[in-house]
Amino acid sequence: MEKREPQVYIDGKFYSKSEAKISVYDHGLLYGDGVFEGIRAYNGSVFKLREHIDRLYESAHTIMLRIDKSKEEIIKAVVDTLKKNNLRDSYIRLVVTRGCGDLGLDPRKCARPTIIVITDTIRLHDGDQKEKGMTAIIAWVRRDAIDATSHEIKSLNYMNSVLAKIEANNAGADEAISLERSGYVCEGVAENIFIVHDGQIFTPRSSTGALPGITAQVVMRIGAKLGYAVNYRNISPHDLFRANEVFFTGTAAEIVSVREINKRVIGGGKPGPVTKRLIEEYQKLVKDPKEGVPIK
Ligand code: PMP
Repeated sequence: MEKREPQVYIDGKFYSKSEAKISVYDHGLLYGDGVFEGIRAYNGSVFKLREHIDRLYESAHTIMLRIDKSKEEIIKAVVDTLKKNNLRDSYIRLVVTRGCGDLGLDPRKCARPTIIVITDTIRLHDGDQKEKGMTAIIAWVRRDAIDATSHEIKSLNYMNSVLAKIEANNAGADEAISLERSGYVCEGVAENIFIVHDGQIFTPRSSTGALPGITAQVVMRIGAKLGYAVNYRNISPHDLFRANEVFFTGTAAEIVSVREINKRVIGGGKPGPVTKRLIEEYQKLVKDPKEGVPIK
């Protein structure tokens, strides 16, 4: 039997993947004018869906994009798309663009936003990287300043991350780490970053312009529950190199160890004990239906 194509939600209707298209006049395409969320469903429950929807609306608020649907309606659109595709485990991309306008960038020309839900099965950093840890480089491109197109806003403007990723690719590394303007560590291209030093867990302050990660919040909570001191701190490149453990967090990446940065071996050069404990607890939590919204 022929496999049915994935069904994509666009503005209240479902389209087969090959037919799921938006206008070339959509300002999401023309100007990166829009916001998005990457969300994950585990075992029939959408992990932290409400938190992702809250963040989507906060991003939309800052860019003055009015989403003409309630949060409950957006939650329903996500759940309906998963049901339509018979998915219980999925990577979900929720996108709200400014919508169609003319070729000028004035958002007032865009009558209504375009709302898209894609449910897929992509898995990043799987297999080897999860087992052995990843390699990373510190990229030359600095994170956009907090008074610029800051990554605190989860907008469709990801060129800053794309440039960093290109540097990682060119260097043959798995991932890139971005510094903020002052030279302190900010985050990965689509992950927050943590270090473990003398049994304590640290992550850069949110004022570096990093995205306030939902996974990072969860990991900080798990770390504290396991009895570790978990704190925000300025982290320099030197702090990274001399850390006992470094790891990334993100919805797609989950928790993944970084074993080498700019050719410096980090700690034991493999996932460390603190990272491993956090991964174990995180894997339990994501499958807990109380932590998400059920697909039903
Ligand atoms: N930083 C950036 C720039 C990201 O795109 C992401 C992925 N959403 C993260 C951090 C991690 O955030 P979260 O844990 O909410 O997925």
